[in-house]
Amino acid sequence: MKPLKSLPFFFAMAGCKRHCVYCDQTRITGETSAPTPEEIRQVLRQQTGPVGIGYFGGSFTCLPAERVDSFLEATRAAPAGSSLRFSTHPLCLSPEILGRLKDATRKGCPIACVELGISSLDDAVLESCGRGYSGEQALQAVERLANEGFPVGVQLMIGLPGQNFDSTLDDLQRLARVKGPRSMDLRLYPCLVLQGTPLESLWKSGRYTPLDTETAARWAGHLLLEALGLGFNILRVGLAETTALSSSVIAGPHHPAFGEIAWGECLARLLTRNSAEGPWIEHPNRRSLFKGHGKRGLERLAELSGRTVAEAAGHLSFWPCVKTSRGKSRG
Ligand code: SF4
Repeated sequence: MKPLKSLPFFFAMAGCKRHCVYCDQTRITGETSAPTPEEIRQVLRQQTGPVGIGYFGGSFTCLPAERVDSFLEATRAAPAGSSLRFSTHPLCLSPEILGRLKDATRKGCPIACVELGISSLDDAVLESCGRGYSGEQALQAVERLANEGFPVGVQLMIGLPGQNFDSTLDDLQRLARVKGPRSMDLRLYPCLVLQGTPLESLWKSGRYTPLDTETAARWAGHLLLEALGLGFNILRVGLAETTALSSSVIAGPHHPAFGEIAWGECLARLLTRNSAEGPWIEHPNRRSLFKGHGKRGLERLAELSGRTVAEAAGHLSFWPCVKTSRGKSRG
């Protein structure tokens, strides 16, 4: 099925009861205030076809109940076939809130996904980040949502204070056990040091060392490979680049194409896992993951296979592009 046109609305930290040490949604998204339900309605009424509405950047279900209801109700102004996904905090999913969400679905606001900002399931990491819950509580929230029939997404991070690769792999495996055969969306973000956040003080005092881009790309790429194997549906890797973000990052693995680099790492690992020395055949759409960004993907393919870059390039080919009857190319 063709994905719906995405229409995100940002609620900069609306509903958040704490300030997680790394977060400043205004700097990440460039949005300073949440839209009103009427403003959302006006935008939705102008749409000519179904849209994928997003309420992101805050803790949606932590807002007062009447505000949650009015934002849910606003989505009914969207053309038929539209749906909503939103991000929220694991502690704001009481039975009463879930009842409210189900009620909204019955009244014509289909919920495509509830995305939980989990960051980590490691209690020590969660404590260092000021998240305000335990890994077990986060898992229970995921399970509760899934058991009530809501499609679930999880947002995880790498490079958080006190976190290492094994801890993030453990996060994935614990989530996969709760997921079972169900589908679950995943977004993966590297931890960046943003100006004015508590993490900036930790970094400046030497109590936090951010990842460099290369380390973060290897970590993310490896984790992506494991996530694919565990059956997660990966929606995004890395934050969307905005002017506000790029002018606010003061340390950490910031790269406008972080997701591409991480996917290149993932594919280099996947290919060499399947065939240690090649030859390898890839989809043409993935060419840039090997040949872009200073040929980083190709260099990793060479390194992981014990070949030179020229040899690795000679062993990597792409499916031929076929012209369709409408003249379009497809792999
Ligand atoms: S990370 Fe999420 S819960 Fe924490 S302050 Fe930012 S938006 Fe709120």
